[in-house]
Amino acid sequence: MPGWEFFDENEKKQIDEVMETGIIMRFGFEGQRKARWKAREMEAEIRKKTGAAHALLLADGTAAITTALAALGVGAGDEVIMPPFTFVATFESIMAAGATPVVAEADDTLCLSPESVLEYITPRTKAVMPVHMCGAAGRLDELRSICRDRNLLLVEDACQAFGASYHGVPVGTIGDAGCYSFDFNKMVTCGEGGAIVTNSREIYERADMYHDHGHDHAQNDRGAEGHVFPGYNYRITELHAALGLAQIAKMDRFMSIQRENKRILKEKLSEVKDIRFRTLTDPEGDCATFLSFFTPTEDKARKTAAALKEAGVGGVFHWYDNNWHYIRNWSLFIERNFAHKIGSDILNGMADYTKRTFKSDDLISRCVSITISLKWSPDDALSCAEKAAAAIGKVL
Ligand SMILES: *Cc1c(COP(=O)(O)O)cnc(C)c1O
Repeated sequence: MPGWEFFDENEKKQIDEVMETGIIMRFGFEGQRKARWKAREMEAEIRKKTGAAHALLLADGTAAITTALAALGVGAGDEVIMPPFTFVATFESIMAAGATPVVAEADDTLCLSPESVLEYITPRTKAVMPVHMCGAAGRLDELRSICRDRNLLLVEDACQAFGASYHGVPVGTIGDAGCYSFDFNKMVTCGEGGAIVTNSREIYERADMYHDHGHDHAQNDRGAEGHVFPGYNYRITELHAALGLAQIAKMDRFMSIQRENKRILKEKLSEVKDIRFRTLTDPEGDCATFLSFFTPTEDKARKTAAALKEAGVGGVFHWYDNNWHYIRNWSLFIERNFAHKIGSDILNGMADYTKRTFKSDDLISRCVSITISLKWSPDDALSCAEKAAAAIGKVL
């Protein structure tokens, strides 16, 4: 991770094909585009990789989540249960849809804890949004059965886990809708990009309309197209889709490199006493973008992360101190510092997060993740593993 480390002539060739016609818009211009439809092609690739019946490519993952919620009819007065360990885009897009984010807890899978979801369900709960953090699935069987029993929607934020699977089924395709991100730091990148997958034709069509001002895309003359409801402009460009096409063709190679490098690193770190690896609900389905583990205490995690960085192990995260991924440092959210006035439906429904305490603190404060590089040769991975094991051993 990330896929841009493997940019080569293929990305250039794809982009050149778009520039040869100059048609950067994904819709219309049939006469001029010489049958080049990069966004459509990328959607076909996403369907192939995930087995989903429908895929919609959009501007980014945040837009994908917002659009998926809108397509599912989630909005004002509705609550969406999400984990405290994610990227801020999860609560931002729930709010953008007009719904209220309700933050539950994470568990040792680093994803949403099913038991905690039960605690936070209210009569206003409309959807549950697990986030498959760091490339691997959460406890989807349990979450799915909670949603079935209570008639709630399951919307997967699979933005960090395109390519991951859960008992052989690609994540993103298990809920009513799933969202991926292809932003610059993800394993497969469009530069900026995102996607929604679903097996429901109706949800797909609603998302397709919503992400393009309501256009029904029923004919070739945009001016004459119908619109059922208004939407936004969350369209992807052909240039971004073209880049993504070159990247998705390399995805199997990315996964096998990462899996092998992670295996080498994990084997070595298994020798270190007193660390416990993150629980993987489906080890075979892990994208292997990170190796994550828990140390006995918060202090030791902080020292471990520092020691790893000092030893030259790149891409080390102690998420508890990170401003973007754990609720502890989301002061903007906790103190309600929003750019504009927020609807009272959202604000009144929100808990007072200045007072909330999180059981997840114990877990996330002890968690350290090491990014698995696509650039490592097996020898690099081994030498990194040896450095890491020595550095952690000294701290613990
Ligand atoms: C990257 C990411 C997003 C948002 O995707 P963008 O394409 O950057 O908008 C949402 N959720 C999670 C968990 C992410 O990691």
